[in-house]
Amino acid sequence: MTDAGVQVESMRVAFDGVTALRDVSLAVESGEFFTLVGPSGCGKTTMLRAIAGLTDGAEGTVAIDGRDVTDAPPEERNVGMVFQNYALFPHMSVRENVAYGLRFHELADKSEDDRVAELLELVDLGGVADRSPEQLSGGQQQRIALARALAPEPDVLLLDEPLSALDAKLRKRLRVQLQTIQRELDITTIYVTHDQAEALALSDRVAVMHEGRVEQVAVPETVYRDPTSRFVAEFVGDNNLFDGRVTDDGASVAVDGATLPLPAGTAASPGESVTVAVRPEAIAVDDGDEAGADGTTLAATVETVEFLGDAYRVHCRWQGRRIECKTTAANPPAGRVTLRFDAADAQLL
Ligand code: ATP
Repeated sequence: MTDAGVQVESMRVAFDGVTALRDVSLAVESGEFFTLVGPSGCGKTTMLRAIAGLTDGAEGTVAIDGRDVTDAPPEERNVGMVFQNYALFPHMSVRENVAYGLRFHELADKSEDDRVAELLELVDLGGVADRSPEQLSGGQQQRIALARALAPEPDVLLLDEPLSALDAKLRKRLRVQLQTIQRELDITTIYVTHDQAEALALSDRVAVMHEGRVEQVAVPETVYRDPTSRFVAEFVGDNNLFDGRVTDDGASVAVDGATLPLPAGTAASPGESVTVAVRPEAIAVDDGDEAGADGTTLAATVETVEFLGDAYRVHCRWQGRRIECKTTAANPPAGRVTLRFDAADAQLL
């Protein structure tokens, strides 16, 4: 084991016959912002709780900063945790809530009051120390919960969907604040979210989870541009997936009577079953029906269009299947269109 960050080896957790984690191993580096992302029920919270020591019957080992804490109770793991629902004490003031985080912690070089003031300053809430949590907005309450979790100077910060109860605008603002605080403290952070955009925006590295397993661990750019599995391609990049068979000359993929180019830089044997993945923004939408023979232009029909502000998301139908495109055209496409993509922007799964 290394002497930094968090290491989980072969973690398995089952609840009454439901397997939540199937032999998951992870290595999070010291100071890293690491995110577990995946759909509801894939095991993200169970993983976080297993690291914190809150899961009964967890099999596997956990090391924090090189110390094996597998058998240590939660209070001896030196982790701070923030949940979706704030969990502040309503009968205590903001100051008392933050001080509560220090109940098991001896401060070496400063008074409790000074430490609480420092933390409130860190989360930019110095002015509300004497209020009760009910007098604060959701975003402010969540920042207090963060200050409380950080109070005892944990080695690791565990965050379970801390922004999901907030409205979209506040979420984005708090996301930036959270990132700034994490960088400033250089604290190893494991963040749980089902929101892929949030995961990509915040993290140094992302672990994509699916049905109790980790499918891919990589920096956000790699997970987005170079997914290693069908699930990651669909969940993270909203990729269009074309299942087909490599043609006899090994240069193309036959899909439902049409021929798509084999993604650039990939090799596959003639006759092999493959999936070609193309991201929505890699597909250009042109007016008119001018599909060419090389497979990189497809004649399709626009079904629905969503206006995203800076682009349109266009849902088309081609050969009976749906294709999703994203275009920055000035006007929404309609009717018969030609979809174009470059083989260099496609991936082979
Ligand atoms: P969400 O995003 O909805 O919180 P998640 O990815 O965090 O989902 P977990 O909460 O870790 O998923 O749950 C993983 C699986 O384990 C699910 O099938 C869930 O129903 C099950 N599970 C979790 N906790 C318990 C429990 N205490 N008792 C029984 N089953 C549980």
